[in-house]
Amino acid sequence: MTTTALPTYEDAVARYEPVIGLETHVELGTATKMFCGCRTEFGAEPNTQVCPVCLGLPGALPVANRAGIEATIRIGLALNCDIAEWCRMARKNYFYPDMPKNFQTSQYDEPLCVDGYVDVEVDGKQYRIGIERVHLEEDTGKTLHVGGATGRIHGATESLVDYNRAGIPLVEIVTKPVPGLGALAPEVAKAYVAELRDIIRSLGVSDVRMEQGSLRCDVNTSLNKPGEEWGTRTETKNVNSLRSVERAVRSEIIRQSGLLDQGTRIFQETRHFQETTGDTRPGRSKETATDYRYFPEPDLVPIAPDKAWVAELKAALPEKPSTKRARLRDDWGISAVDMESVANAGAVELIEETIAAGASPAGARKWWMGELARRANETGVELSAVGATPAQVAALQKLVDEGKLNDKLARQVLEGVVAGEGDPAAVMSARGLGVVSDTGALTAAVDEAIAANPDIAAKVRDGKVAAAGALVGAVMKTTRGQADAKTVRELILERLGAS
Ligand SMILES: [Zn+2]
Repeated sequence: MTTTALPTYEDAVARYEPVIGLETHVELGTATKMFCGCRTEFGAEPNTQVCPVCLGLPGALPVANRAGIEATIRIGLALNCDIAEWCRMARKNYFYPDMPKNFQTSQYDEPLCVDGYVDVEVDGKQYRIGIERVHLEEDTGKTLHVGGATGRIHGATESLVDYNRAGIPLVEIVTKPVPGLGALAPEVAKAYVAELRDIIRSLGVSDVRMEQGSLRCDVNTSLNKPGEEWGTRTETKNVNSLRSVERAVRSEIIRQSGLLDQGTRIFQETRHFQETTGDTRPGRSKETATDYRYFPEPDLVPIAPDKAWVAELKAALPEKPSTKRARLRDDWGISAVDMESVANAGAVELIEETIAAGASPAGARKWWMGELARRANETGVELSAVGATPAQVAALQKLVDEGKLNDKLARQVLEGVVAGEGDPAAVMSARGLGVVSDTGALTAAVDEAIAANPDIAAKVRDGKVAAAGALVGAVMKTTRGQADAKTVRELILERLGAS
């Protein structure tokens, strides 16, 4: 078999123009499901949060959850959409074992919210992403394939279905196609999902946790030669982290350009993103709307939100995350680029809370964007789940500010905090960490260092004060880094008559 080498990303975007589009599903955090009264807690025993309605039993009738409609309208308003004065739910018909009714209650040609936009910033430049529609639907159950090596149906000995998730309200947010991004398409896609996540989180309608699947993203990508019509798009399903959104677009651009270079047609298909390799694999060929035989849902009354209610919801929207970031940027005295990396790291609220707990902006940012961000990266968890709270970080920084910890010791204390050993003060005393600045305790170590390094001591005596650094180093070593370096330096100079 001959394999053709794939083009580099730079070559691909030099020859072709990408057009992207994103479909994002957000699971709403309502207490009960969309069309029945079943609870929605994540992680409950399988099939314990079900009833005749969400199991699709004959004769069971749905009733819409007002909280789900309200949350959808608030999302639509926050995304600058028009809210429909009258619309209906629709049945999307298809068979799948995790969907007991054999249709999904969704919306088709009458979405609740249409025609909005989101502005995102990449490298200091703003991009407007058009929102085509925001509609309300219900989630499916979950299928678990067991007995195989991959967790996929191929090779599995049995499949288990959990209907706890079936009927949880789901909001689908569909962008208009976004052309003209060139090589930045992957980064803009990622920035859009991050902005969407922040907006929805600020509304308090979903916990928008990608790793738990409460925010899921499908990424459409097509390529065309400059000046030609848009190409055929592929849809990469269920991309489950911000980083994967970027990687999925990038790898599709490379893959498709490789095919187009050889004169091969791109088929409209669903593809799956591979977390391990960073590329996409083919799934099923894409259904078109006619395959689903949509029709208006006869068991639910139309949704006709009162204009005054919508105006009230609009007036009560919280501060936009982008406005908030601009305000915090001024408060914290940092650049736009620094603020962008804070936002990308998911650290805005964490730093804000750390400052509220008493830390300086610089101190708070140092820990979250430094040591803790590094740890989160290494262990592959969100920064908010890294194991330290804003209050603990503020307490740690306070110990540094008071001179009780130096940077090196503070990192060791933080390690203990993250490992669950308690608050910084507790870790400090349990591990016996802490800066020794008591001159009495340090004098012996200083004298020892001077005695062990007579040549260096002589240089300092002769006025070469810079040589004292080596003696400070020796003292730091014998005190296992716990000496206060400034005090040690003063002591050395004093003992050698050089101060
Ligand atoms: Zn139910």
